[in-house]
Amino acid sequence: RGFDGPSMFGHPKGLMTLFFTEMWERFSYYGMRALLILFMTTAVIDGGLGFDDKTSGAIYGLYTMGVYLLALPGGWLADRLLGLKKSVWYGGIIIALGHFTMGLPGIISLMDGAHETKSALNSLDTTSFFLGLILIVVGTGLLKPNISSIVGQLYHEGSSKRDAGFSIFYMGINIGGFIAPIICSTFAEIDWHLGFGAAGFGMVLGLIQYKLTSGTLKGKGELADADSAEEIAHRRRLRLFTFLTVIVLAFTLFLMFQGVIVINAAAIAEASYKVIGVVAAAFFIYILVFGGLNKDEKKKVVVIAILLCFGALFWSGFEQAGSTLNLFAERFTDRHLMGWEIPAGYFQSANSMFIVIFAPVFAALWVWLAKRHLEPSSPIKFAFGLLLLGVGFMVMYFAAKVAVSGDLAAPAWLMFTYLFHTFGELSLSPVGLSLTTKLAPKKFQGQMMGMWFLSVALGNLVAGIIAGEASGETKEAVAEMPDQYMMIVMVSVGAGLLLMLITKPIRKLMGNVR
Ligand code: GLN
Repeated sequence: RGFDGPSMFGHPKGLMTLFFTEMWERFSYYGMRALLILFMTTAVIDGGLGFDDKTSGAIYGLYTMGVYLLALPGGWLADRLLGLKKSVWYGGIIIALGHFTMGLPGIISLMDGAHETKSALNSLDTTSFFLGLILIVVGTGLLKPNISSIVGQLYHEGSSKRDAGFSIFYMGINIGGFIAPIICSTFAEIDWHLGFGAAGFGMVLGLIQYKLTSGTLKGKGELADADSAEEIAHRRRLRLFTFLTVIVLAFTLFLMFQGVIVINAAAIAEASYKVIGVVAAAFFIYILVFGGLNKDEKKKVVVIAILLCFGALFWSGFEQAGSTLNLFAERFTDRHLMGWEIPAGYFQSANSMFIVIFAPVFAALWVWLAKRHLEPSSPIKFAFGLLLLGVGFMVMYFAAKVAVSGDLAAPAWLMFTYLFHTFGELSLSPVGLSLTTKLAPKKFQGQMMGMWFLSVALGNLVAGIIAGEASGETKEAVAEMPDQYMMIVMVSVGAGLLLMLITKPIRKLMGNVR
């Protein structure tokens, strides 16, 4: 059967619990993300934060980067101290608190009637906004990697059911990602804070569901009890270390909110991507030189490093969905529909909607091709992902031309862009994840998975930085948009073609992995 315990539709019952928990967690993540850059760039007088594009893009990039970056300590903490199951629980609670913190000024201004001045509310908004973002980053780092690990643990080692289980789980992710932007954007039309609150409410539903049905996990994801005095002492030290880290970070935050430490988001974003690049390069060099790997393993690690570079490039285009393209929907897209203006955030549902529709089609396509011995190799699928990303931005090039002419672009432009980007995601993302696991040397499995998250984090950061420049903030900036999109087309198509060219040597390095 491929798993133990009670089953449901041929899969472990615990999958249902995790499916809905992740669905609601993604609901909260994508619901809030649909509002994020719009809230930051909206003028204070209209209830937004009134940041310029550069700052907003940098904060978007740092936040979405942080969410994936904290998956590294999140996974570490679960393995050593909390166990997976508890990490998901506490992670979810912190996430919900984060969203509610962002929503809080809404309640305060409601209770206070119209007494608060706009500027007092704005300063409250800014503080609660950053505090909320930080909580969500921490909570997601604790929840996201670990819930996926429990899914893996539900199945026996090497069970063929496991891949199908992950596909079902991915559906949960995208059902959440589909409904959330519509619901949260609708509430945000009334008041931004209601939108944030709706995101938090979703996470609470997920937590209730998780608690009520966690029996189905049958002890999976539980940390083994410490069985030796040495282990007990070790865990005590870890607990102390974690506690002190939290205290130091909280104190730093306190100084930041007091204005003692002044931060410049754009400068931090710029510095971050250089730091991440250097750290990743150093890590791979270290593993290759001092990792004690044999020749075959070394070759495979080189392949992972190459693919992750292309992966980061892909995400830096793809994740502009929530930044550059979200602003394009808001500023340059004709959203009138029968006397009503569709909220820009609704477009954020497109990717998830297309995934739900086309994931089964793609799965069937690969099987169909495989039967005819035509299934493309993993690096080729990766290259397709990049080419499709480029095609999507080509569509945006034409949409930007419309904007330059002074008209509003038809919604179809954005929808086609998201469609191509979804095809790219379906081609690249599952391959990237499974290839990383297959190519990683046994003793570096966890770390290599971490490197995959790092490449996603890097991509998200760059997606924010680009948005700061390419979202047509001023009249002059609008005129530059077509060229900026064309630049992205050239980079992604160029990278895709390059990868195709070097597929042969890459496959040689991959050895027995296909
Ligand atoms: N949409 C997917 C999720 O939220 C994958 C995103 C990614 O890997 N960048 O889980």
